[in-house]
This record gives sequence, C-alpha cells and structure tokens, in this order.
Amino acid sequence: MSSLPSSSFPSAPVDVCVVGAGPTGLLLAGDLAAAGVRVVLLEKRVRESNLTRAFAVHARSLEMFDARGLAEKLLDTGLFLSSARLFGGARIDLSRLPSRFPGVLMTPQYEVERVLEERALALGAEFRRGCEVTGLRQDADGVDVDVREEDGAARRLRAAYVVGADGVRSAVRQALGMPFPGKSVLRSVMLADVRLATEPAEVPVAESGAAGFAFLVPFGDGWYRVIAWERGSDLPSDAPVDMENLRSVVHALFGTDYGMGDARWTSRFHSDERQVPRYREGRVFLAGDAAHVHSPAGGMGMNAGLQDSANLGWKLAAVLQGRAGETLLDSYHAERHPVGQMVLRVSHGIIRAALLGSPLARRLRDTAARAATVMPFATARGTGLVSGIGIDYPAPPGAHPMTGRRAPDLPLAETSDGPTRLYEALRAGTHVRVLPRGAKAEPEPGVTTVTRADALPLTLLVRPDGYVAEAVEDTGSSGRPGPGLLRASDAV
Ligand SMILES: Cc1cc2nc3c(=O)[nH]c(=O)nc-3n(C[C@H](O)[C@H](O)[C@H](O)COP(=O)(O)OP(=O)(O)OC[C@H]3O[C@@H](n4cnc5c(N)ncnc54)[C@H](O)[C@@H]3O)c2cc1C
Repeated sequence: MSSLPSSSFPSAPVDVCVVGAGPTGLLLAGDLAAAGVRVVLLEKRVRESNLTRAFAVHARSLEMFDARGLAEKLLDTGLFLSSARLFGGARIDLSRLPSRFPGVLMTPQYEVERVLEERALALGAEFRRGCEVTGLRQDADGVDVDVREEDGAARRLRAAYVVGADGVRSAVRQALGMPFPGKSVLRSVMLADVRLATEPAEVPVAESGAAGFAFLVPFGDGWYRVIAWERGSDLPSDAPVDMENLRSVVHALFGTDYGMGDARWTSRFHSDERQVPRYREGRVFLAGDAAHVHSPAGGMGMNAGLQDSANLGWKLAAVLQGRAGETLLDSYHAERHPVGQMVLRVSHGIIRAALLGSPLARRLRDTAARAATVMPFATARGTGLVSGIGIDYPAPPGAHPMTGRRAPDLPLAETSDGPTRLYEALRAGTHVRVLPRGAKAEPEPGVTTVTRADALPLTLLVRPDGYVAEAVEDTGSSGRPGPGLLRASDAV
C-alpha cells in the first residue's frame, strides 16, 4: 500500500481536490486522473484502515468495476453469492438479475479501497495522507481549502472544484454550512468478526424475532461478520461487545450460535438516516456518506457512494476540459439526490421490518416476505433497487424510452483487437456510440464508436458512467437527450 508521498504540498492551483479516501473519494480520484484531470486526494488518516464496515458489493457496482477493468481483481478478494436468506426463511434469488454479475460480492471494504487506491495512484492521482481539511471558502474562480498536516502545519490549497467525500462527519459539509437533516434509527448494534465451528446452511442469513435481529455474512476466508441487535439494549456506542451476550442473541434467533469462537474485532454502532438538501453548492460537491447516510440494512451505502462518484467524475472532466458547459454539473444533484432518497427509503423499510416488536406483525411480515420472493415482479423490483441494476435517471417527456436507462452489457461485433462487449468499450473512459450492425459513422472527438453484434436497429450514445444519453431507432423515432445528459453534439 502507499505511503505518504514525499513531494511538497501543491502550491499551484489544481483542477479538483477530493477530500476523503474512502471508496467514494478513491473511485472519483481514479476517474478524474484517468480523464487527464489534475486531482489531489486529501486523507486525514495516516495509514490505511484494516477494519471493514461494508462487505456487500452489489451488481451495479461490479459493473462499474468492470467498466474500469477492475471487476476480476475485486472478485478474487471475496465470495460471490447469488442468493440470500431473509427473515422467516424467505429466500431471495439474485441469479436472475439481468447483469453480468447476478449476485452480490462479499468482500471487506478495505479490499474495495485497496483496488481503487492502486488504480488511482497508477493513473497519477496525487494522494496525500495525514492531511485533514479544516475549512474552505469559495469565490467565482475556485475554492481555497484549509488543511492541517499530520505535524500540525497549516496549509492552503487552491482548486477549481472540491468534492467532499469525507464521510458522515464531513468537514466539507460543515464548512459549507449545509444542513444534514434526519434522525437516529438504530442504537447499540453489535458487530463482531468471528469464526464459526458450524457453517450456516445458507449464507448470508438474517433473522429477526423477539430477541432482536442478527445477520451473518461470510467473508470467504473462514471469517464471518455478525451484526446483531438485542431488543431493549441501549448501550452507548463505545460500550464493549460482550461475546456471551452476542452468542445468546444469535442462539435465540437461529436456535444455535454456530459454535461462535472469539472475535478478532468487535464494535458497536448507531445509525442515522440523513441526507443533504443539495449535492452541489457552487464549486463544491458532496458525495457518499457526506451526502447521505442510513442504516447498513440492504448494504447500499458504499455502493451508492461509488455510483455518486461514477456520475460526477466524467462531468467534472468534461467541464474542466471545455467539452461541456457548467450546467452539466447541476445534473449531478438532479440525478443522484433522488437515488439517495430512494436508498434511504429502502433501507428504512428493511430496518423497520427487522425491528417489528409484535409477534403477529412479524408473522405477517414473514408471510409477506415469502410471498414477495416468489413473485417475479416484486423480486425484480426489489433486487433491481438494492443491486442498483434497476436505477435509472430522469429523461424528458418524449425522449426515447432507453434515455437515462442503465446500458446493458451489449455484445459487440467482432473486430481483430477491439472490445467484445459494451463494458469493455467503456474502459476508454469516453462516451460510446453503439451503432447497429453493419452501420458506419464519421469519427467523433471524445467518442468511441462500436457496432452491436445483434440485429436491433437502434443507435445508442452511452455516457462514460454506463447510462444511455441518446437512443435513436432506425424507424425514425429520434432520441432526445435527458436533462444534463451530454449529447454527442456537445462534445467538441
Ligand atoms: C456496520 C456497517 C456495515 C455496512 N455495510 C455496508 C455494505 O455491506 N455495503 C455498503 O454498500 N455499505 C455498507 N455500509 C456503509 C459504508 O461503510 C459507507 O457507506 C461507506 O464507507 C461510505 O464511503 P465514503 O467513501 O463515502 O465514506 P468513508 O468510508 O467514511 O470515508 C471517508 C474518508 O474521509 C476521511 N476524512 C474524514 N474527514 C476528513 C477530513 N476532514 N479531511 C480529510 N479526510 C477526511 C476519513 O478518514 C475516511 O477515510 C456499512 C456501514 C456500517 C456501519
């Protein structure tokens, strides 16, 4: 892993300053560096953390790793699962997700960070550890960022744009005076990484009942993450986790504690549901937990942060390089704020269902969950939202129905050394124009042109983040671009 670079603190203005080297900041810094933008990543931690909060990487995030040539590397670090067992024995089948990755990858958050950090560094992002952002001020041309270095030295950095990816207690958000409205939803949830003498028959597995709720997830290397909440417990977040107490909650819910051994790591957390009203304030943007936070139910926080970054990176690069107007940047809030709202709603629904106190309500919930998981539409809708596969962006009335949709991984016509499918073509980091089979087009600057393998008479312009900017059918119905979606004609 990287150590603190020896170069002096940047004295000349930079294009983008990303604050926070969690998953959100690392993906963004890598995307900006890949696009040729001068990006500085400031992280207050001196060393990388070997603790993990997140462990579930959903299908849409894996598609994004694929579009950067990183999916195989990440898949090698964990366990790919295509089903999960929910409350009351309901089983959710992910194997029919319409994705190259029909399931969920269980891997520690630090592996996600490692893969993204290696890429960002290799692409030339300037990474400075031990640099805590303490304040900022913006004017018409840029942002002054106040930084405290590890030795206490105060520094100032000038950037054209700043992105606060500095987590739930975001200093960037506070410096903007941006409210973070919401409420506390969960207290005293126990976390432990343990070995189990007996493996659960199916993993991941969740149960909730009179005792509380528990969730067991394998990391794939013999260790399991246990997340458990005991009904009525109201201990502070810094109270130590009592392993006997944890075993008894798990036993009460599953009828066994699976021979739970001692923990290599324990913690408690409490969880809030909050979202900022605006993701953009002038030249400053908020992304990831700095912009939205919710309970871990559904495992969507890190995934949503990664997708915030994938949405913002190419837009910042296009504006900085003069390929699009400033207003394109407003589409970051327009597209990602509603997704953040949805994630809060879905996670809230799951946690409410897990916390139900009355036995009758729990029986009804379990029956409803079992019924829903055998209804193809309900399953597809639920898994589509949680996995990110079903998330689309708004398109204007009259636009082709594909506009704003997630582009599927279309097979492409064979060429000697070209990409064989769309997500390989997206690795160029540009828009990709997908022509019907046999069609020809003039080369466009900043656009990679490919030809689809199937016979569908549809031309697509796919954004660098894998969403459809424009769709045109041969039948004459023309696709108009959605709000904030960069059209081919905007590319100079
Ligand atoms: C128990 C638990 C389980 C979870 N499981 C999942 C899951 O399975 N899947 C999922 O998608 N999500 C999950 N989450 C949520 C997930 O961990 C977060 O959403 C994710 O870490 C957010 O990433 P981020 O990069 O936005 O912020 P963070 O990971 O919080 O990173 C922010 C970074 O900014 C740095 N920083 C902070 N302040 C400053 C400053 N002033 N200056 C410089 N640097 C600063 C921090 O040191 C940190 O490195 C879980 C959360 C918990 C608590």
